[in-house]
Amino acid sequence: MAGEIVDSVEMLRRLVAFDTTSRNSNMELIEYVRKYLKDHGVDSKLVPSEDGKKANLFATVGPMAPDGVVLSGHTDVVPVDGQPWDTDPWTLTLKDGKYYGRGTCDMKAFYAVGLAMLPEFRKAKLRKPIHFALSYDEEVGCIGAHSLAARMAGEVPKPRAIIIGEPTMMTVVHAHKGAQIYITKFTGFEAHSSMTHLGVSAVHFAGEFIHYLNTVQDELDAAAPRDSEFMPAAATFNVGTIVGGTAGNILARECEVLWGYRELPTEPIDRLGKRAIEWLEKELLPKMKAKHPAADITTQLRSSTPAFSAEGNEEAKALAASWSGSNTVSSVVYATEAGIFRKTLDVPTVVCGPGDIAQAHQPNEFVLASQIEACEGFMRRMMEWCCRD
Ligand SMILES: [Zn+2]
Repeated sequence: MAGEIVDSVEMLRRLVAFDTTSRNSNMELIEYVRKYLKDHGVDSKLVPSEDGKKANLFATVGPMAPDGVVLSGHTDVVPVDGQPWDTDPWTLTLKDGKYYGRGTCDMKAFYAVGLAMLPEFRKAKLRKPIHFALSYDEEVGCIGAHSLAARMAGEVPKPRAIIIGEPTMMTVVHAHKGAQIYITKFTGFEAHSSMTHLGVSAVHFAGEFIHYLNTVQDELDAAAPRDSEFMPAAATFNVGTIVGGTAGNILARECEVLWGYRELPTEPIDRLGKRAIEWLEKELLPKMKAKHPAADITTQLRSSTPAFSAEGNEEAKALAASWSGSNTVSSVVYATEAGIFRKTLDVPTVVCGPGDIAQAHQPNEFVLASQIEACEGFMRRMMEWCCRD
């Protein structure tokens, strides 16, 4: 069966229409892409999540040969809840040269362009393959990429370069910080708020922990190199949410702190986490227990996204620069799946995709029409490279 021909914008319109907020299943989008590929004669493989509600997809266009290029993207998007959108986030809307919609920039445009060019890829005499790699749950800690990269490492002949199409305005990014997220649960002992000697407030001790993180932050900032490629130069902590307590006149029994940090590629990803957990156990917990023996603190690792180091990515950098026409090579502080793919497949990797990270996760997220065109140029030059020996 001959596959349908759609242009990049129409493909993006279709992909944006799937509400793939990370809490939802991404299967409708995955099934759509799988059928589209199939209609064009390309088989794909799914790597399902543990509960089977989501899946990664990978597919190879061209010969099952080494030295190909991986086009990697994530299918999920961040929530629109509570954001003041001027247009329907799930309906691609063109205004003043900008395409609005959730996921336009982060990051459906990159693989929308790649998928729209599939008929051209199929017609071209590819000597080196083009691999699509679509993951689930990137936005909640790069969950899917681990199993996707592992499967590809076993089943795909070793590629020459991996392109992670996160928004970089089509410039080349060769390094980024890693991200580690933990949840720490403080358990206190309830008492009337007038009887502070009878209980222990989980909220008050959670506050001490946050203060501790601030003091470590000050220390890191003071020690940060002046000439860093990263902005901010040091590792950075963030406390994302705090949930705790029940009433104004009760010492809180429970408090949960969701916290984490962005670590430099030169440091072990768990360095600051280990240090904080040690402080909780050795410094804070004894103080809580002294007030009431029922007190407790537990910490769980929520997600770990390795940093992406510039080392060893020279060939991917050179290729992506020639395909994008951009000479700008930089480091960024947001995490992507690059570190996971780089490590698991042991293949030079860069981040390069349409759109500006400043629009990611925002209300009225958009991608410039000119960025879609730039990405088309990138894909075309990449395809021509894949046709050569
Ligand atoms: Zn993204």
